[in-house]
Amino acid sequence: MSSDAVRRFSRQIILKEVGAAGLKAWLSSPVAVHGDGVAADLTRRYVHGAGLPRGSDPAVCPSVEVSDGLAGAMQGVGDAGALMLSLLPGGAPVSFESPPMPAVSAAGDPLVAIVGVGGLGCPAAVGLALGGVRRFRLIDDDVVDISNLPRQILHRDGDVGRAKVDSGRDGLLRWFPDLAIETHKERLVGGNAARLLDGADLVIEGSDNFPTKFRVNAFSKAMGVPAVVSGVLRLDGQALALMPGADTACYRCLFPKSPAPGEVPTCSSAGILGPVAGVLGLWEAALGLQLLAGEDPSGKLWTFDARGGRWMGFGVRRVDGCVACGAEADDPALRDAAEGEGPMAGCKI
Ligand SMILES: [Zn+2]
Repeated sequence: MSSDAVRRFSRQIILKEVGAAGLKAWLSSPVAVHGDGVAADLTRRYVHGAGLPRGSDPAVCPSVEVSDGLAGAMQGVGDAGALMLSLLPGGAPVSFESPPMPAVSAAGDPLVAIVGVGGLGCPAAVGLALGGVRRFRLIDDDVVDISNLPRQILHRDGDVGRAKVDSGRDGLLRWFPDLAIETHKERLVGGNAARLLDGADLVIEGSDNFPTKFRVNAFSKAMGVPAVVSGVLRLDGQALALMPGADTACYRCLFPKSPAPGEVPTCSSAGILGPVAGVLGLWEAALGLQLLAGEDPSGKLWTFDARGGRWMGFGVRRVDGCVACGAEADDPALRDAAEGEGPMAGCKI
């Protein structure tokens, strides 16, 4: 295998469920993805971006059927992930159970800020656009790396080295030419959060570190802007919706402090399966559309485990002494511009 291929698939190879033998099996397992439109294209990006060749004859290769829209994208990407796991050496059949997708679409002309144009932000933006959102603000200071490509589906090979906000904008416009997209090649820190998120009707958080998640949470609570915070690692993901005014848990109620460095594994040390990031990003979009519609999906921590293909929603309660939403809330996350990066909270996005 070439060094480029090793780097490209590095986050898959280090997954203990995949390894070198699993990647070899994928590289020799043609898969056909049937369907037209964005949802089917999105699913193809995950399947073939992970190294599985394109197949054409359903009689000789597994296939995934994809229908239209956000619900179709969720089912297609989830089914693709389940299929990929079942194709591993010793792999057993896995079925994907979609979470309850909302029957809402974006009304008016909301502006959605995407913090992190990576493994979560890419599919979240696509999902929101499928739901009718037309105005986006992309925020990310990173550039595209070859190891991002199997799961960060707005970026292509020719984008390696480009700013993710530029590549992400171009990727969105390929599928949705009528979008209005602002780009900010900046890292969200305490000193610029109010400026970068000003005017947003919804914030989708898909970063790789706790300080950024804390800042988005603090901004949502302080400024009354709905948000969705998510994280993914290995074959697992989680997401939490934040509804201003609701007496439900915020992200800081669940995670009061950043873990100590080294306490939480990172994507580069533990790996990630692309479709897991895909379904979590699409679920962020679904929760975001509910928030934009004035519905309240907060108060549940959603978790996904690709091994069984299952979602669970755990009721989570607000904590009285929470620094972000308690009676005497005083969250330093917004004012501390000099805060360090802190440990990673999921995948390098
Ligand atoms: Zn709280």
